Amino acid sequence: MNISHLILNSSIAQGLDIIGDRWSLLILREAFYGHNRFEELIEHTGASRATLTRRLAALIDNDILFKRPQNPGSNRYEYCFTEKGLALSGPSLLAQQWDSLRSKNSNKPSIHHSSCNHTLRPKAVCRQCKQELLYDDVSWNAGRLQLDQQLDEIRLIHQQRRVRESKQQKAEADDLVYLIGDRWTLLILIVSFFGTCRYDDYIKQLNIAPGILAGRLKTIVSGDILSRKLYQENPARYEYKLSEKGKSIFPFIMSLRQWALEQLENKAPSPVLIHKPCGHALEVDVVCGSCDELPTPEEILLKNSR
Ligand SMILES: [Zn+2]
Ligand SMILES: [Zn+2]
Repeated sequence: MNISHLILNSSIAQGLDIIGDRWSLLILREAFYGHNRFEELIEHTGASRATLTRRLAALIDNDILFKRPQNPGSNRYEYCFTEKGLALSGPSLLAQQWDSLRSKNSNKPSIHHSSCNHTLRPKAVCRQCKQELLYDDVSWNAGRLQLDQQLDEIRLIHQQRRVRESKQQKAEADDLVYLIGDRWTLLILIVSFFGTCRYDDYIKQLNIAPGILAGRLKTIVSGDILSRKLYQENPARYEYKLSEKGKSIFPFIMSLRQWALEQLENKAPSPVLIHKPCGHALEVDVVCGSCDELPTPEEILLKNSR
């Protein structure tokens, strides 16, 4: 059966439903960099006032951000992270690192871990055995899950959300926000993580229109996230395999799943995903790569703000 759907569903899909559109991700990223005011967010995200207003309202509704007066009695506001929002610091750090390793755009502040006094290089680890999380170390078990309602939920999410093509997409294939902020791109990636590699299977699993699929695959291949290999001639048929760069997105997605499990569903992960080195159900922490400790939000400091 169709393992991809299991993983797509529930925690990951829920988490992404809240923060997984491009504008919300940009807003969260900039707020994380300390750009908390409306005008600053306009400047740094490039969103229109209407878009920013809508997305901020949704993030407040979902209890990710809250607003407070910039000064006592002021009617100008700043937007701050709630506890639930602060718990996104792990995924945010991983996303930030993924971008900075690949992007030419380096005018982001560097991040410092105050308790060990080193640059904070985030590392996703297995909560049980503390080993660094690698894509190839995770296996999944389809047998333990029930599918039907989950399938329906996913389809519903798709129907509710129309994803717009962006001309920027290709140019931004090295920017995680742009990659995962496109829902189809992200869904293709996730099912690829769980073994889907052929065109017809993507169509079956995602219920995606062939034209949309072809366009997204082209972008993803050009971004070197998936590579394309001929597996049959006449007619030509291709398989899509994760590149190392593609695999390097996995820890981020798993840390987002962890956030959703803990903050949205309040439940332990089901043993769908197994960390092979230790045999435990996969739970992910994002630690400081220098001291291997879990940084609290207060210990994460930004330097050289733009
Ligand atoms: Zn482990
Ligand atoms: Zn540290």
